[in-house]
Amino acid sequence: MAKIQMKTPLVEMDGDEMTRILWKQIKDTLILPFVDLKTEYYDLGLKHRDETDDKITVESAEATKKYGVAVKCATITPNAQRVEEYSLKKQWKSPNGTIRAILDGTVFRAPIMVKGVSPTVRTWKKPLTIARHAYGDIYKDVEMNIPCAGTLKMTFEPSDGDAAKRQEEVVFEYKGPGVAMAMHNLEKSISSFARACFKYALDTKQDLWFSTKDTISKKYDQTFKLIFEDVFEKEFKAGFEKEGITYFYTLIDDAVARVIRSEGGFIWACKNYDGDVMSDMVSTAFGSLAMMTSVLVAPDGTTEFEAAHGTVTKHYYRYLKGEQTSTNPMATIFAWTGALKKRGQLDKLPALEAFADRLEQASLDTIRSGIMTGDLAGLVEGERPAPVTSEAFLKAIRTRMEA
Ligand code: NAP
Ligand code: MG
Repeated sequence: MAKIQMKTPLVEMDGDEMTRILWKQIKDTLILPFVDLKTEYYDLGLKHRDETDDKITVESAEATKKYGVAVKCATITPNAQRVEEYSLKKQWKSPNGTIRAILDGTVFRAPIMVKGVSPTVRTWKKPLTIARHAYGDIYKDVEMNIPCAGTLKMTFEPSDGDAAKRQEEVVFEYKGPGVAMAMHNLEKSISSFARACFKYALDTKQDLWFSTKDTISKKYDQTFKLIFEDVFEKEFKAGFEKEGITYFYTLIDDAVARVIRSEGGFIWACKNYDGDVMSDMVSTAFGSLAMMTSVLVAPDGTTEFEAAHGTVTKHYYRYLKGEQTSTNPMATIFAWTGALKKRGQLDKLPALEAFADRLEQASLDTIRSGIMTGDLAGLVEGERPAPVTSEAFLKAIRTRMEA
């Protein structure tokens, strides 16, 4: 059978530990036999990031801007223990953080659902995608321990020296010790976030929900609400009408209640902290972290696909001892299919898109037929199948692809 041809290369970002092992197995078993794969390869393995003083990460992000689509393997974000383990020159920053900053992107997390493996929330029938604003709020706050009675003020000094723009507010008159915090955000970052969300909703033809606490936070959260409204009215309303999808704004507490009662099948845009908390709740409720994909979308449509989980270190140490592990490759497979599909759409290659769909279907059917890794075997309703190794699972998918 002739291999499927590509036009533009995918940016391929290799990674670490168990996911690096799976990365190669997925390519060898499920992609290279069928596709004349074109990639521009960047090795983001920790050793190579260290050797290149992390320049490789920046280069991979620049290449993503150039080509428009990337697929990324999970990578180690080094802590003190990793600095020792890998004899690093320094504690390099999170590659995902670096890439996100360069692409100015928004992260969308969506579960892969399989019949028979049910979410904890019984009403959820379709995937629920969380979009998290990845800038500012408490993640860039300034905090104080207040030692004694006194006055806390917040002041703004305009750079242009215009006295009319100067602002000062008394935050609180302390009668004794306490704590304080100040946060900020930027119109530019919020409108980029809004645009990425509306664009992703259009691309995936799903409704978009957005929630804040604007009844209490009458300037801060209100600004988020107004920017979303403005971007929607000016840039996306017509497109949404054409696709028959809706934009829905509600208060965060109302959103939480509605999400639990919903069937899923929409995108929920969240402020930074809400997204941090809610994405862990949603991924846990859907069953396994290994069934959650993550897509970074820049305002210009540049897209990077990856698994939401990490490098599965515990399994890797067992692998190094010669053990066959039952690590779930689904999220990494879906990162590849997502990227190939997007490349196919951009380059007008229906055969490549169809291949990606077929590989997703074969993977889902393999699980449905009772062949799955350990993390999923425990979630099956009724009689539980015996878990298989990653290698056996990938081989079973391959067999289906060739049938
Ligand atoms: P992790 O790699 O996601 O693994 C945590 C646990 O979740 C595993 O021990 C395993 O549980 C389960 N798990 C995760 N993925 C699985 C899969 N595909 N199949 C089966 N089980 C899976 O998180 P971590 O151990 O906290 O972090 C390890 C490294 O990953 C760290 O160095 C961190 O910096 C990095 N990390 C990278 C990214 C990224 O690149 N996007 C994201 C998060 C973390 P059991 O052991 O119970 O089987
Ligand atoms: Mg978190």
